[in-house]
Amino acid sequence: MRSDLDGALRRLGRSKVLLVAADFDGTLSPIVSDPSAAAPDPRALEPLIGLAALPSTSVLVISGRARADVEKRLGPRIPGIDIIGSHGAEPGADEGLDVHPDIEVFAARLAPVVHHHPGSELEVKPFSVAFHLRNVSVKGQIRAGREAIECVGPIAAQVKKGKKVLEFMAVSADKGQALEAYRAARGASATFFVGDDVTDEAVFEVLGPGDVGVKVGPGPTAAHYRVEGQPDVAGLLTELLHQRDTHTRG
Ligand SMILES: [Mg+2]
Repeated sequence: MRSDLDGALRRLGRSKVLLVAADFDGTLSPIVSDPSAAAPDPRALEPLIGLAALPSTSVLVISGRARADVEKRLGPRIPGIDIIGSHGAEPGADEGLDVHPDIEVFAARLAPVVHHHPGSELEVKPFSVAFHLRNVSVKGQIRAGREAIECVGPIAAQVKKGKKVLEFMAVSADKGQALEAYRAARGASATFFVGDDVTDEAVFEVLGPGDVGVKVGPGPTAAHYRVEGQPDVAGLLTELLHQRDTHTRG
């Protein structure tokens, strides 16, 4: 499969207009037990910055995090790298920092659930509230998740289940729709996407035969390629940069 992936990256390098897109947590940044401590892997970020500097090449980071949060973690004004936040609900910098009015209601209803389940945590974002369970026992996760869904599920526009996180969305959005809109706006003729979470499946599902989707880590996926873990992402992006750079010079 690996040699097959190398061939696919070579082919992508030669595409007319290339979109290179990546998820953030668990893909560009190693998973950490404290989500507020997540930072990009410099070995993965460097080739991404290189790709963004090449002609006819767009680079997009698409995350469940709030847009401003991703921007802060990537570092100030990474040239040419676009960011879509909140699973697609925050497509651009000009969307403003308004918080959806339902968010306060979600957070108030979830507060007692957090209190019942030590280790669980709320993350309040402009368009969703994430209920993090990564520091809760496996048994506790199921109970806490069920309680949270009972409290907020009926009033949320959407509930997204990620890796040890439940996300209560005030608006309907998914990464797949967001990526489709972005690639149409950029006129991309081929797309590369790498991601590790359940929510990234929406992107793998909208990829076409000329595109390349890479799933990071184990689990069922619609992606055609897979790498073992987050440390492998840097190698993939470095190879893609090499292929694209060679093509755009020649
Ligand atoms: Mg992720």
